[in-house]
Amino acid sequence: MAGRLRGVVALVTGGGSGIGRAVCSRLCRDGARVAVADRDTAGAEDTLGTLWGHEGHQQPSSVVPSLNAAFDVDVASATSVTRLLRRVQEHFGSPPRVAVCCAGVTRDDFLLRMDEGTFQEVLAVNLQGTFLVTQAVARALVAAGTGGSIVHVGSIVAKVGNVGQTNYAASKAGVEGLTRSCAKELSRFGIRCNAVLPGFIVTPMSQKVPPKVLAKFAGLVPMGRLGDPEEVADVCAFLASGDSAYITGASVEVTGGLFM
Ligand code: NAD
Repeated sequence: MAGRLRGVVALVTGGGSGIGRAVCSRLCRDGARVAVADRDTAGAEDTLGTLWGHEGHQQPSSVVPSLNAAFDVDVASATSVTRLLRRVQEHFGSPPRVAVCCAGVTRDDFLLRMDEGTFQEVLAVNLQGTFLVTQAVARALVAAGTGGSIVHVGSIVAKVGNVGQTNYAASKAGVEGLTRSCAKELSRFGIRCNAVLPGFIVTPMSQKVPPKVLAKFAGLVPMGRLGDPEEVADVCAFLASGDSAYITGASVEVTGGLFM
């Protein structure tokens, strides 16, 4: 199996859709053995099915063991995340040296109308979920003494705000602060932590936005179009790999130049 992540175990949350699915595919092409984790188990299994065919990843059979695996997880639950890490270690025989936290939700509403539950739900998945996965992975890596790379998926909305997204923007701003603090704490263990800030990317999440609004955003992008999940995945794979060995605590914008 060729590639800069040859044989590395990589955990991807939110791997059952959109950006997470593209990240699974990209890491797999780089030679990683991928743990596809999602609350949507059918989505995670679908992603798993797309990974065969990458170099060295043959369709599993009674004689060819599976190099990748799908796991169900609710990242907002500490119990569920602890169970995920245990199952990943049991399956692969080691903790994930790469983790990409893509699981995320939107529950848009105007500030003047938003109820507390809607605010908390988004914080629980996007921010607390990223914290729980990062903490569990970091604990396992410190115990194993191997070092590793953790990538958080934030959003450009954290920097510029967005109408109807007070909860989402707050959660993603929190993710950036979490990333930088983790980078400072974990460097001495050889663990890097960076964030990717996508702009508007064509996925099931952005398809919930009315087409008229999406077209307006596309018009604001200097590159003149929305992004593809694969373009975010390429940057996640760079940050996951040794090609970014001297980068930690960074936030990399993947926006086509939007809001620069
Ligand atoms: P998506 O809806 O296609 O995928 C999100 C995935 O997260 C889904 O598979 C969903 O089941 C999973 N998920 C949600 N809650 C979960 C939970 N509690 N536990 C485990 N899994 C859970 O969305 P996407 O566009 O691919 O988003 C991926 C990440 O990128 C998110 O963090 C999102 O905030 C971020 N992002 C997306 C865009 C965009 O324009 N699409 C822009 C900036 C940031």
